[in-house]
Amino acid sequence: MTVATEHDQAVSTLRQAERLLLTTHENPDGDALGSLLAMHLMLAGLGKDSVMYMSPDEFPLPWEYRNWTLDGLVGAPPDDVEDRTIVFLDCGNIDRMPVDFLQREGLHIVNIDHHHDNTRFGSVNLVDPGASCTAEIVWRLGRELGAELTTPIAEALYTGLVTDTGRFMYESTGVEAHRMAGELIQAGVQPHKVYRRLFEDLPFSRLELLQRALATVQRHDHGAVTVAHLVKSDYAETGALETDSEGVIDHLRAVQGTAVAVLVRELLGEDREGLRKVSLRATDGRVDVSSIARAYGGGGHTQAAGFTTEAPYPQLVEELRRRVEEQLRP
Ligand code: AMP
Ligand code: MN
Ligand code: MN
Repeated sequence: MTVATEHDQAVSTLRQAERLLLTTHENPDGDALGSLLAMHLMLAGLGKDSVMYMSPDEFPLPWEYRNWTLDGLVGAPPDDVEDRTIVFLDCGNIDRMPVDFLQREGLHIVNIDHHHDNTRFGSVNLVDPGASCTAEIVWRLGRELGAELTTPIAEALYTGLVTDTGRFMYESTGVEAHRMAGELIQAGVQPHKVYRRLFEDLPFSRLELLQRALATVQRHDHGAVTVAHLVKSDYAETGALETDSEGVIDHLRAVQGTAVAVLVRELLGEDREGLRKVSLRATDGRVDVSSIARAYGGGGHTQAAGFTTEAPYPQLVEELRRRVEEQLRP
């Protein structure tokens, strides 16, 4: 099915739906939260009964989003969940929302996303890998649905756009992304204010965490694989949160000679003992990091992907080096 046909299907499903439950992936990022809130506000503006669901475990949200008031958010399934149209936003794989009530058979799911490796778990799948962010798809849908582009909706969409395009710098940034930015600014977004909220006014602990991460950087294979490693004590001793590691990897990918940047961080919490989250970023066109992430049960985009593993650190680094090498020299 073409993206255009999928788009029409999603539009007619959303038009017909009266009661909806919207959700996104765990550990939500700017695109996840922005798409979720924008879609919710659009549907509510069209007179529909929409609720957003996120697990209470996601709170507090990362620092960047601390002031977001998510009116209409529920932390438990509403009684009528089976009668609601479920909308997944920015979630490539249903296992990225590990919540029983959403994994039940028989739900009517609209899956709206831009990950090329989306597993198409919905009844309706609008998957457009050409979109710079899920927010771009939501923006387009809003237009089709006749939703008014209010300033709060525009701000939510702009957040998804800015964060997922790396501030309009990644390869995914196209003409549409810039056109969308123009329209959102017309609708009342003040880019410098969004920028300040997202990227500045940070707690000092974040800088301290970054300092520790950078102190661990190791360059392998003449710098092709550049790795940083954060362990539990780094959080405990700086007072930083897990979400404060966001952005660390950008420093690694920016270095000359890096083909793949890797951030490995130990997960906190007793139930996650021994688990590590691995983030991958590729700057070399020959490498598709999403395929590496998939080998460990994760996924993502060609140039940005992630997974969680129990593999011990040294073994993990060796494996990643080998997998990158295989792609660089097939
Ligand atoms: P991150 O490294 O967490 O910033 O994630 C980079 C990209 O990889 C994002 O597009 C995520 O959606 C995707 N991603 C991260 N972790 C996973 C995972 N466990 N499974 C599937 N996709 C993931
Ligand atoms: Mn996301
Ligand atoms: Mn996204």
